[in-house]
Amino acid sequence: MKKITVSDEILQEARNIADKVYHPLGEFLDEKNLKAVLTSMRLKNGKIWPMPIVLDAEKSIAEKIKGEKEIILADKKNKEIFKLSGISTFKFDKLFFYKNLFGSEDKNHPGVAKTLEMGDYLVGGKVHLLKKKLKKLHKLFFSPSETKKIFEKRKWKKVAAFQTRNPPHISHEYIQKDALTKVDGLFINPVIGGKKKGDFRDEHILGAYGILMKKNYPRNKVILGTLHTFMRYAGPKEAVFHALIRKNFGCTHMIIGRNHAGAENYYDPYAAHDIFDRFEEKELGIKILKYENAFYCNECKKIVLEKECRHGKKARVDISGNKLREKLTNGEIIPKEFVRKEVAEYLRAKRKNIFC
Ligand SMILES: [Zn+2]
Repeated sequence: MKKITVSDEILQEARNIADKVYHPLGEFLDEKNLKAVLTSMRLKNGKIWPMPIVLDAEKSIAEKIKGEKEIILADKKNKEIFKLSGISTFKFDKLFFYKNLFGSEDKNHPGVAKTLEMGDYLVGGKVHLLKKKLKKLHKLFFSPSETKKIFEKRKWKKVAAFQTRNPPHISHEYIQKDALTKVDGLFINPVIGGKKKGDFRDEHILGAYGILMKKNYPRNKVILGTLHTFMRYAGPKEAVFHALIRKNFGCTHMIIGRNHAGAENYYDPYAAHDIFDRFEEKELGIKILKYENAFYCNECKKIVLEKECRHGKKARVDISGNKLREKLTNGEIIPKEFVRKEVAEYLRAKRKNIFC
């Protein structure tokens, strides 16, 4: 059987398929399924699936495996980890891909830029794990079968998932605690893996949440677990992807905030809410908890949601991502109305090495 060496990122995608993190997907998409996913957010068999999971390859690799029925995927150390069956190879129509996935052709969009760097061919095929078990990914990673057991053991019937790629602001905390009033438990599930320059490093996101878990959140109501994939910055479509992943982990509710999985101003801030109107909740299989922005208002003198407050932007303690990065880099004090004091102190202490 022919063997190809693939990146850690592709191996992780294969692992997510094998671990059923990407259920109902069992394969790297072939040409027809890719088109169906990009145009209708569904697989050819009609099941909802919004995110193209693809294996890209250079032309020489595509030619090497053309006509093969099965191939081996090996890591950079030449360790054979997965087998792919039902192989197909086809030319990668990148323009069609990023126009449909990101709704953008702008080469400054991080998703478009990444697509342009990929190989010119795609390889479809069903994923089979060659070993019985793979090494544990991270001490905080639990596979879908593990999280389901954990929730069951805790007798959590309703579990809300929170996706994040940032350390917690008090607005996140507000939303998470509000969600907790509606469910039995909260699963905070930060994305670990490829992000763009200037994003927070994974270990510090986890470290900051660790502080809240220890000092602030109700006991036995919150679980912190990692999700190993890369950010696509596909906004609304990525919100649906994130919701389906959390359904696979056994969550019954998914929190979607303002500008979910967005990048700068590429998406309407609430496009990631509206997209869920296109699916019946029953078919989607997970309830969406939609939240607006929360912030501290100096006039209301508390944290409020946009719709609760009449005082306008001047009264808000709201700091943009860029401004927060700047403040942290310069070692400035972060207002406690924006980031809880213990968390801010932790971030400030790590500031020399805090960003990707
Ligand atoms: Zn107000």
